[in-house]
Amino acid sequence: MTKLQKLIKECPCRVSDKAEGLAYFFDLPAGFYDPSANYIFIAPDFPEPQRFSMLAHERQHAICTKTRCFCTKSEYWQEYHAFRSELLTCFNYPDGLRWTVKHFQTSRGQDFPVHTKALNRLMKTKLWKTALLKLKEKP
Ligand SMILES: [Zn+2]
Ligand SMILES: [Zn+2]
Repeated sequence: MTKLQKLIKECPCRVSDKAEGLAYFFDLPAGFYDPSANYIFIAPDFPEPQRFSMLAHERQHAICTKTRCFCTKSEYWQEYHAFRSELLTCFNYPDGLRWTVKHFQTSRGQDFPVHTKALNRLMKTKLWKTALLKLKEKP
């Protein structure tokens, strides 16, 4: 079983990791969680470590929804929890972590102001700095 397959099993909902055409419908994220359908959709046409990283993010959205986490009342905290989980889940998986770091760096300052705000907070943490050190990247 691959790391991606293992993570799919750990999701509290159903997962389609072959959601064809997703990249068309949703310009950037290429993955999303649909609470009413109880499904996570992940686009197929990306390398496995990147899909792992995307799934880690969407999985946290599913967990927060299912556990009625306080964050569900605030988009900002929802994204903060999802991004943080993405970082933590990939922490000991360098290929996945590389995508996560790239994801954070490219998402910041793009069309979603709430994402940017959450990332600004997260990218001040020790967790983020340690992740960069692991990949030997400059802060
Ligand atoms: Zn939460
Ligand atoms: Zn999200």
